[in-house]
Amino acid sequence: MVVISPATEKPVATVPDATRSELRYALAAADKAFASWSETDFAFRRECLFKFAEAVRRNEDEIAEALTREQGKPLAQARGEIAKAMAAVEKFTAIEIEPQIIRDTAEDRIELHYRPLGVVAGITPWNFPVILAAQKIAQALYTGNTMVLKPSPYTPVATLLLGKASIGAIPPGVLNIVSGGNALGAWLTSAPEVRKISFTGSGRTGQAVLKSAAANFARVTLELGGNDAAIVLPDADIDKAVPKIFAAAFNNAGQICMAIKRLYVHADIYHAVVARMAAMADAIQLGDGMDPESDMGPVQNRPQYQKLLGILDHTRRWTEGRIVAGGHVLERPGYFLRPTIVADIAEGSRLVDEEPFGPILPIIRFDDVDDAIRRANASDFGLSGSVWTADTERGAELANRLDVGTAWVNRHGGADAERPFGGAKTSGIGREHGLLGLHSYMEPLSLHVGK
Ligand code: NAD
Repeated sequence: MVVISPATEKPVATVPDATRSELRYALAAADKAFASWSETDFAFRRECLFKFAEAVRRNEDEIAEALTREQGKPLAQARGEIAKAMAAVEKFTAIEIEPQIIRDTAEDRIELHYRPLGVVAGITPWNFPVILAAQKIAQALYTGNTMVLKPSPYTPVATLLLGKASIGAIPPGVLNIVSGGNALGAWLTSAPEVRKISFTGSGRTGQAVLKSAAANFARVTLELGGNDAAIVLPDADIDKAVPKIFAAAFNNAGQICMAIKRLYVHADIYHAVVARMAAMADAIQLGDGMDPESDMGPVQNRPQYQKLLGILDHTRRWTEGRIVAGGHVLERPGYFLRPTIVADIAEGSRLVDEEPFGPILPIIRFDDVDDAIRRANASDFGLSGSVWTADTERGAELANRLDVGTAWVNRHGGADAERPFGGAKTSGIGREHGLLGLHSYMEPLSLHVGK
């Protein structure tokens, strides 16, 4: 399978396109390894994952370059992704998983134990291939499961290098990485060995995964799309807030599930925020991620690029929206769209109602904060959201009214190993990260002892 650079549209690597029988081989290896791996203790598994993290760090140069070439992001950000991913591996393994005592009386004792499930299928998208793979690997393996992981066909190279780095750190059969197309994903999710599927990707594929899990009653965690709203109140310190908001909307060229995708700004500060956001967008150096001067790379793949151009065209033709920054592509090979800001636009447009998943942001005016919350919640998505204000207590109250899995005040984005993460509504099912997330990789067993 040929992997294309989004910056040059030229091939950067050729990787295996695993057949169904090769997948069966990986599943059989994972199934066999489960017998001994699930018997090891947390300390041993932590040690293996630490060795894995060390090996990845030793190979950072090679993995970061592969990630930039296949994904598009600037090399410094690829290095940052690897560093964060390995820090997450260590943080997950610092979480203690103990049986819970539910009752202990003279008559009886009830304990809640958590046991490994078996073979976990991991499926990842193309925006953060290393961090998303590493989080799934750490959670699945630390909790005593084995894994077969399938990266996106657009970005398999860095993930395969993670697999290579794991050799010697993690026993054979425990972690298996298979590259291939979408059909490989469907074969994997319907395999009888698979006890749990941890999927990150689009809602449409998430529905297919959920259906195929039904055949074997596989447990499922779905981390899906978002259309995150950020609500900026008139008392917000815009000198501090705007750079953070800009980063939360445009980092990784806007290709983040929990990027700010709808920016609601109070009328009193609307023009000031629009002007500053536009100035920040204009200052971005857009270019090949291998060029150290680039702040932002291309959109990762052609279909996604075309989708964004379609949304831009719709915005121009059918909305009142004013393009105040960007709005055009670079005249060179690659999928380069200037960071684009659209003001004076509202709900009812594709840009506001859909998840663009790219460097294009609508800024929407509001007068009344209750109205802003209502509009933020009037979406089928519910991944995350934020409120920006000088009054953090009021901000927390308002943020707590957002129909989302994660609500922030004066910040937006980022995943903590300790904090459960996942979506409300169509943004997902279940939670990853934190004790709640780790428990989702395990089967609870209630042990009731009569005395
Ligand atoms: P996608 O759904 O097209 O693909 C994701 C993965 O699923 C790929 O590995 C793909 O090969 C595989 N796949 C495709 N068809 C399959 C099938 N029938 N069965 C099993 N697997 C199949 O998503 P994408 O375009 O790669 O990713 C972008 C989406 O991911 C966006 O919507 C984004 O918001 C979302 N995302 C969510 C999170 C989160 O944590 N909530 C994080 C990152 C990205």
